[in-house]
Amino acid sequence: MAEPKKPKVTPRIDIFKAWCKACGICIAFCPTGVLAKDEAGYPYVKDIEQCINCGWCEVRCPDFAITVETKVKEKKRVEVKGEEAQPKGEEEISPERIVAPGQ
Ligand code: SF4
Ligand code: SF4
Repeated sequence: MAEPKKPKVTPRIDIFKAWCKACGICIAFCPTGVLAKDEAGYPYVKDIEQCINCGWCEVRCPDFAITVETKVKEKKRVEVKGEEAQPKGEEEISPERIVAPGQ
């Protein structure tokens, strides 16, 4: 029996140019040709519809200059922002919240 198809999530590719050295690794590793070089040699998103969200560009970038954002990640980020937006009051971080579990 065939499994139901998951809805396609189109990721967003963020390129942080200040950290990018235009090495072209992300372009070379992208299996579907989403990325291309601009006239200065920096990567840009040529065809986001071809992105299969494999994450290779992000994993292979030696300078952490490219990230692949999915809507799920974005939603989490919004939720965190929502928490931060609430009035602080007694919301000071207690020492217990800083200590890692198991310590
Ligand atoms: S996530 Fe994969 S398919 Fe999408 S741009 Fe990066 S390497 Fe290409
Ligand atoms: S791999 Fe990283 S540093 Fe190299 S071109 Fe891509 S984003 Fe820029």
